[in-house]
Amino acid sequence: MRQLVAGNWKMNGVAASLGELAALKAALTSAPCDVLLCPPATLLAQAAAVADGAFAIGGQDCSPQDCGAFTGDISAAMLRDAGASAVILGHSERRQYHGESNALVADKTQAAWRAGLVAIICVGESDAEHEAGKSHPVCHNQISGSVPSTATAANTVIAYEPVWAIGTGKTPTSNEIAAMHAHLRRCLIEAVGAEGRGIKILYGGSVKPSNAAEILNLPEVNGALVGGASLKANDFLGIIAGVKPV
Ligand code: PEP
Repeated sequence: MRQLVAGNWKMNGVAASLGELAALKAALTSAPCDVLLCPPATLLAQAAAVADGAFAIGGQDCSPQDCGAFTGDISAAMLRDAGASAVILGHSERRQYHGESNALVADKTQAAWRAGLVAIICVGESDAEHEAGKSHPVCHNQISGSVPSTATAANTVIAYEPVWAIGTGKTPTSNEIAAMHAHLRRCLIEAVGAEGRGIKILYGGSVKPSNAAEILNLPEVNGALVGGASLKANDFLGIIAGVKPV
C-alpha cells in the first residue's frame, strides 16, 4: 500500500508561513509516498495555489451540515471549493476541547464524503486509558462509533493518535504501535467488511525525522499524521524521507 504522510498545522500559520510550503514543493520532486498538508482554513486557497498539485491540501475539521445558518462553521463543500481533497475529523483536540462525540464525527464523515473529500478519522486513547490498559477497547469503540459502515479505501483514512503522545515528545514502543495497528485493522474489517483491508491507518503523535523510519516501517503502519514537525519544510521532508518506497 502506498503510504501517506499528512501534516496538521493546527491553529498555526499566516500568509508569511506559505514559504514553508514553497520549500516543500521545491524539494518534493519524486516523493516516495502521497503527501498532504492541512493548514488553517484561512490559508487553504493560498496553500493549494502554492502546492499546485505537487502535494494535496486538506482541512482540519468540517461541519456535519452542508450549508445554512451555522455562524463560524465551515462546510466540506467550502473546503473542497478552496482546494482541499481531504479533511481531518475527530482529532483528539476537537474531541477534548469541543466535546465531539463518535456520532458527530460519523456525521461529519458523511458530510465530507458528500463533498467528495477523503475523511481522515482520528482515534486514540488518553493517558489515563493507556495507563489502565484500555487502549485497545477505547479505540475499538471509537472505530465502531465514528466510522460509517460504508467507508471505503478511497474515501477514508484512519489516524491512530494516542492523546498522550501528541505534542509531548513521547511515543508508544514499536511493539505497542504494531499491536495497535493490527488491532485497528481487525476493528476496521469488523466495521466495514473486506473494504477495511485497504483503508490506510496512519500513526500520529510526536513523529519526527529521527523516529519516522522506524515507525513508518512497522507492519500495518500506512503513513503518518504529523503535527509540530510539519510546520517546517525541512522537518517534514525528513519524515517523508523515512518512508520505504514501494
Ligand atoms: C497531531 O496533533 O495530529 C500530532 C500528531 O501532533 P504532534 O506530531 O505534534 O505530536
